Amino acid sequence: MANVDALVIGGGFFGCEIAVELRRLGFSKVMLCEREPGLLRRASYVNQARVHNGYHYPRSLSTAERSRANFERFVEDYGYAVRTDMVKLYAIAATSRVNAAQYASFCGKIGVPCREAPAQLARLFDPDLIEASFLTRELAFDAVALARTAAQRLADARVEVRLNAPVKLDPIISATQPIRVATPAGAIEAGVVVNCSYAALDEVGVPVRARIKRELAEMLLIPPPRDIADVGITVMDGPFFSTMPFPAARLHSLSHVRYTPHEAWTEPGRGHAPPVRSNGEAMLRDAARFLPVLAKVEPVRSIFEIKTVLMRNEDDDGRPILAETCAESPRILSVMGSKIDNIYDVLETLRAHDWKEHV
Ligand SMILES: Cc1cc2nc3c(=O)[nH]c(=O)nc-3n(C[C@H](O)[C@H](O)[C@H](O)COP(=O)(O)OP(=O)(O)OC[C@H]3O[C@@H](n4cnc5c(N)ncnc54)[C@H](O)[C@@H]3O)c2cc1C
Repeated sequence: MANVDALVIGGGFFGCEIAVELRRLGFSKVMLCEREPGLLRRASYVNQARVHNGYHYPRSLSTAERSRANFERFVEDYGYAVRTDMVKLYAIAATSRVNAAQYASFCGKIGVPCREAPAQLARLFDPDLIEASFLTRELAFDAVALARTAAQRLADARVEVRLNAPVKLDPIISATQPIRVATPAGAIEAGVVVNCSYAALDEVGVPVRARIKRELAEMLLIPPPRDIADVGITVMDGPFFSTMPFPAARLHSLSHVRYTPHEAWTEPGRGHAPPVRSNGEAMLRDAARFLPVLAKVEPVRSIFEIKTVLMRNEDDDGRPILAETCAESPRILSVMGSKIDNIYDVLETLRAHDWKEHV
């Protein structure tokens, strides 16, 4: 049986960063197990690639402020994977839950740039359906570039990475004994386990107390029309849409509040996104009403993922991190970053965690 000081379950963005940090914290033998054949293949790839800067969260001031606080730092630290040659518009629909003045005031409150969009961009929208559009500062990340660098950083930190390695904890969890974990290559004993499996958080054998909601989400990948090749657009606040550069595929993503979610559930047991019929046509049709340049777009493909959010943020759309020590054993920590820029909050929590007796 292999023995490791720390085992990280899940090779998404958070699992990779956490494994490197555990080495820095003094764990000698760190292993990361990922069930896919490569790193950052699941939610870390299948998402809207938005480096949040607060604009998305008018109903959760704390999430808006954390995003704003982490944004520039993320852009600097992960600059190799951030597309900076783009502009970002937030548009306010005439039927939005907030009006333009309220939205501008919210941006002022969190201290992010927000000024009226110049005429050549404002005219992209149907003036009957859009009350106002604002030029903002929000960028897109490239998950493939993040994955490439993560692999290098793990190798440099001498973290053992096992791919095609779905793991499951032994159901008997002891607070004082190493954790036994079954892997395809045989059992492992780990001094500590950090569970970073996102959509599968409560399916790897770690009991999780936080109530979690899952949503099967569809993102449509489209070739951007020339007029918006370097433009990201989000229409607030209600059943509208976002289209953003998706640098990992050199396309744009399109999501729609009404059509992106296919179904939602709270019970564990479906960590893989099953294939479903696409809502892409409905997304495009509705988005083109607001943004007519989308009318002639031929979509490339859809990508699906299980979006995982905390039930307690169901109403305010807040996206705080989850860092939960297992009730059965302080040796097991479940971590969910909720959005990419939350990495700093996760690392801070990891450093503050009491690992003393396990290092
Ligand atoms: C549709 C959608 C849109 C989003 N848009 C944005 C956005 O624009 N901006 C933003 O910041 N965030 C966004 N998010 C959230 C963001 O994608 C996630 O917070 C982030 O990617 C989570 O990273 P992770 O490493 O926790 O999860 P993942 O990248 O999913 O990594 C978890 C890994 O665990 C592995 N795993 C699961 N079970 C096992 C097992 N038993 N054994 C081994 N490995 C296992 C999985 O294969 C997976 O690779 C979005 C999410 C979705 C789904």
